Amino acid sequence: MICDGLGDRANRALRFKTPLQAASTPNMDKLVSRGSAGIMDVISPGIPPGSDTAHLALLGYDPMKYYSGRGPFEALGIGMKVDPGDVALRLNFSTMEKGVITDRRAGRIKDVTQLCEAIDGMKFGDVTVNVQPGTEHRGVAVLRGPDLSSSITDVDPHDTGMKFLKCKHITKEGEKTANIVNMFVKKANMALADHPLNNVRKVTGKKQANAVLPRGAGIMREIPSLKELFDIKAAAVSGISLVKGVCRAAGMNVRIAKGLTGGIDTDLDKKVNLALSSLKTHDLVLMNIKFPDIYGHDGDPKGKKEGVERIDKALAPFLDLDRTVVAVTADHSTPCTVMNHSGDPVPLLITSPDGRRDDIKTFDEIQCAKGAIQSIRGRNLLPLLLDRANKVEKFGA
Ligand code: ZN
Ligand code: ZN
Repeated sequence: MICDGLGDRANRALRFKTPLQAASTPNMDKLVSRGSAGIMDVISPGIPPGSDTAHLALLGYDPMKYYSGRGPFEALGIGMKVDPGDVALRLNFSTMEKGVITDRRAGRIKDVTQLCEAIDGMKFGDVTVNVQPGTEHRGVAVLRGPDLSSSITDVDPHDTGMKFLKCKHITKEGEKTANIVNMFVKKANMALADHPLNNVRKVTGKKQANAVLPRGAGIMREIPSLKELFDIKAAAVSGISLVKGVCRAAGMNVRIAKGLTGGIDTDLDKKVNLALSSLKTHDLVLMNIKFPDIYGHDGDPKGKKEGVERIDKALAPFLDLDRTVVAVTADHSTPCTVMNHSGDPVPLLITSPDGRRDDIKTFDEIQCAKGAIQSIRGRNLLPLLLDRANKVEKFGA
């Protein structure tokens, strides 16, 4: 159970407690009382993890080896096919006037499906570019062909009032890919300028979605599945495409249901029920609840505290599980004072029927650091859970 961005720092608005310390969490407290607690540096001490690298680590992978950028996981997350060697980029549909980006989100355009169809499947020599819609103004482009590289810069200037940038290679390897990205952007923007949807937007006074801004190139690496690595059948329940993508890359069965939005409006009870039913047919279920991270980015400690209390209520059914190892933790800290991810370690609790019990009775960043699990890295978590379930083979005789 991953509470995304749960970890925090002392907040003046909460009398110098963290939102988790300030929140009333009877169910998490019951769980930690029945098990043991610890603190976890998901990547390594002092390194603020992204949700993608963090989830890779929590699933036992070395992010340094398997991560080359966000693109491939976003692509997998929205259900695109991505093979090893493919390069994937996220892109925004944006508004360009006389070569200057005046709105990076094209007036927060809601649906870019038709626009993606118009620029999908373009060919540049031996490379094909496929484009599919993400959420709102976002899309994902996957480049497929020989000798591609993610060693390229963003076309997205990440600010308005700027000229859109040319894609450049960072190392020599990226030269071919950078050229293809530039040709793709030029041809795509021409197709968008004449698109009927933009004609309609012009008439109705809406901003043109006439420029694509690719960013975050990543090359898909060969990633062994959890089945190959640990001989387990695993499922994931999450509303966010980035996490779904990491889980798909690990060969997990990504469960989907209406109402799991990844936002603060997500149907928590439905999510918990889907996780519980998945446990009947899988060895491992990962559930991600996104909203502590959202409140953290918004700098809203009271919202985060209330969000944590909502999660705690929804976790009640986990108290009744027997024959199950339950872990509650986070992928990283998102302190409300920072409004971004930080390198602060995250709290962790693990319960299992015959697991050791320590003296920790309260689930928070400070109490957990005094627990019997002590301090571990993210990559240690999955082997630890599998061992609690007696699923790890002996090393040696
Ligand atoms: Zn996260
Ligand atoms: Zn975040």
